[in-house]
Amino acid sequence: MTDRVEKAVEILKSTGVRMTPQRHAILTYLLDTMTHPTADEIYKALEGKFPNMSVATIYNNLRVFKEAGLVRELTYGDSSSRFDANVEEDHYHAICTNCGAIRDFHYPYLREAEEAAARDVGFQVTGHRLEVYGLCEACQAKSH
Ligand code: ZN
Ligand code: MN
Repeated sequence: MTDRVEKAVEILKSTGVRMTPQRHAILTYLLDTMTHPTADEIYKALEGKFPNMSVATIYNNLRVFKEAGLVRELTYGDSSSRFDANVEEDHYHAICTNCGAIRDFHYPYLREAEEAAARDVGFQVTGHRLEVYGLCEACQAKSH
């Protein structure tokens, strides 16, 4: 995980972004947890360490990371965007309808769907989106 943080720091530096202790902490948290946190969750996780930090600081940094291609914003039609630091691996999300947890899973076969769209209807494909909904393992355990 440290490797990924170092690599991300290099990418930011190369785009002229100045590294601050707060920025470094937010980046490390995102890359270490991989839980697709909201800005609020990041704030709560780090406020003990940085008492002067505001939620606005978190948002500003997330925007910087997004512009540098280090995180993806997952929007769900409400204000609670989640942030995904796994931008290197092609993956899909399983979303818990009870607690909102998002887990990564891999399903490479859908590339064929893009090929089919290109072949059958002549699309120049730019991407696709798939989400699976249900109850995560923790929520299943609670309901027993
Ligand atoms: Zn759950
Ligand atoms: Mn993800």
